[in-house]
Amino acid sequence: MAKETKQFQAEVQKILDLMIHSLYSQKEIFLRELISNSSDAIDKLRFESLSHPEWNVDTSQFKIQLVPDVQQKTLKIIDNGIGMDLEEVEANIGTIARSGTGAFIEQMQEAKDRPELIGQFGVGFYSSFMVASKVVLHTQKAGETMGVVWSSTGDGTYTLDSVPRAEGTGTTITLHFKDDLDQDFTTEWVLKAIVKKYSDFISFPIELQKIVEVEKEGEENEEKKEKEFKTEWEVINSQKALWLRSPKDIKDEEYNEFYRHISHDWTDPRKNIHFKAEGTQEFSALFYVPSQLPLDFQMRDSKWGPQLFVKRVFIMDHCEELIPTYFRFVKGLVDSSDLSLNVSREILQQDRQVQGIQKAVTSKLLSRFKEWMSKEREDYEGMWKTFGPILKEGIHADHANKYKLIELSLFRTVDDEKWTSLAEYVDSMKDDQKSIFYISGDRYEELQNNPLLERFKQKGFKVLALTDPIDEWVTTAINKYKDFEFQSILDENLDIDTEEEKKKKEEKLKKAEEEFAPVLETFKTKLKERLKDARLSKRLTTTPVCLVTSTQDPTARMERIMGALGQEVPKTKRILEINPDHKVIQKMKDLSEEQKEVWARVLFSQALLQEGSPVDSPVDLSQDIAKMMEQF
Ligand code: ADP
Repeated sequence: MAKETKQFQAEVQKILDLMIHSLYSQKEIFLRELISNSSDAIDKLRFESLSHPEWNVDTSQFKIQLVPDVQQKTLKIIDNGIGMDLEEVEANIGTIARSGTGAFIEQMQEAKDRPELIGQFGVGFYSSFMVASKVVLHTQKAGETMGVVWSSTGDGTYTLDSVPRAEGTGTTITLHFKDDLDQDFTTEWVLKAIVKKYSDFISFPIELQKIVEVEKEGEENEEKKEKEFKTEWEVINSQKALWLRSPKDIKDEEYNEFYRHISHDWTDPRKNIHFKAEGTQEFSALFYVPSQLPLDFQMRDSKWGPQLFVKRVFIMDHCEELIPTYFRFVKGLVDSSDLSLNVSREILQQDRQVQGIQKAVTSKLLSRFKEWMSKEREDYEGMWKTFGPILKEGIHADHANKYKLIELSLFRTVDDEKWTSLAEYVDSMKDDQKSIFYISGDRYEELQNNPLLERFKQKGFKVLALTDPIDEWVTTAINKYKDFEFQSILDENLDIDTEEEKKKKEEKLKKAEEEFAPVLETFKTKLKERLKDARLSKRLTTTPVCLVTSTQDPTARMERIMGALGQEVPKTKRILEINPDHKVIQKMKDLSEEQKEVWARVLFSQALLQEGSPVDSPVDLSQDIAKMMEQF
């Protein structure tokens, strides 16, 4: 191939511009990104070489080398990992295929004013442009005889050329440093300090090249003597696999740094869960709960699952088989002593041992979460706010661990913003409270204002506010907690009155029945497409009407959610309750048939709005309101 010049994808150029003009002070992190890439590339080669004996890979020779040149102001990062072919270079270095890129760039642009934000994104290879005015990458893929040279100054274009790599398979990245840097990245002690800080645990040796002067003996003539130099290599990382060390010897900073290495998230994790399992399955595991939802988390194709190692050898990323879906937000790794080195994805799916690991991992995570909840409640609540909706999926999906997950769940009540567990809720229940009450809707504030809550407040009954879409499934899946049923305060069968109160109300309603029969009739006949029934209410205090749901029908919210998911949902007819004590309803009695019909439609729309549902036709509603105003 002749040398070619190509244009960067627009997004890439945006990122490069951000890097080039970055005010981020810890520019040194470029090195950890490049070393991380090299380490990944070696991991990949080690794994691939198992099925390619013809490559003759000598796994004992794996290493990453740093070659600084003080005079030229350059640094080479050399690895003998898997390398890339032309296509891969173009796909990986000239474009961004990663999902969530748009959102990422948007946030990155904000980073201009807040340089520390740059530190929160895994910008990988591109971070070299924070320190280098020119970057050259020479790489050769395993199994090939031709290499690729990629080069760019970050000004919109890059060049590509085919050149065989003298060292064969692997990658060399040469950074030509900018002139105005605060730190000299060609200095031995600077490089050592950076590697120690960020990359000490990398499991391959990182060798630093040093030029040392050779003393020549036996020369008589001092003047004639020419200085001679030789190169030496010094391994500057300890290579200790962090997860095999004892938790008590590991500093938080080490845990955090390792997290960044495996997660590509640059913020500190909220918690780490590090353990060793013995017994039927022997493995070490190190998991992290991130402090925030990863940017690409909601993307359909976003990958999850810990890394899998077998006896310290990296096998694969994103091993979904090792944890249940509802723990997909945890990052980390599992290092098994029992699995075979050449396990493949296909094998993993049916492997009994893998299933055993998943079971042990799940049970450990659950017990650590429980401990977390009881010992560091506030921190746990922070986690719950972010990841609770995901964890709750397990209540519905993992029958075996359903009860443990229920105990781990936190809810907010409408009364205050405090989080409560179901155990706490039940403990604080009044003696005469017979169910666990909830109200569900999309927005917490909306729920808090629901007029139906008044009676619960009067009685001192707490009502859970369920705002996550998943809650509709969760309540059905829980059904009962410690003999108490979950009951929506909109349930038609809801009954929170004492016998005495009931009696009184029934007497009153009986009297009212005849009086309000014409009003009810208007609702029933004029809105018969939308209503199953209309009746007098025992639950309303300050509002004229409300809609309730038959116990066996899906709730209005469930309908909205299913609709949003693109599912065909036949609108179930609802039950409308009217409040005979309310002035509006009393006035309605004396209206003409025609007026009554308009009022009925407006009140029905109000009831819909009150529960957070859209009205059937905003145009019809506004015309109805105008009609009412005319008559005022
Ligand atoms: P990330 O590491 O987050 O995927 P990078 O921009 O750092 O993003 O790298 C993009 C891709 O380029 C990597 O996923 C990898 O496939 C490839 N790559 C980068 N550095 C190397 C390397 N030293 N050897 C082989 N492939 C590499």
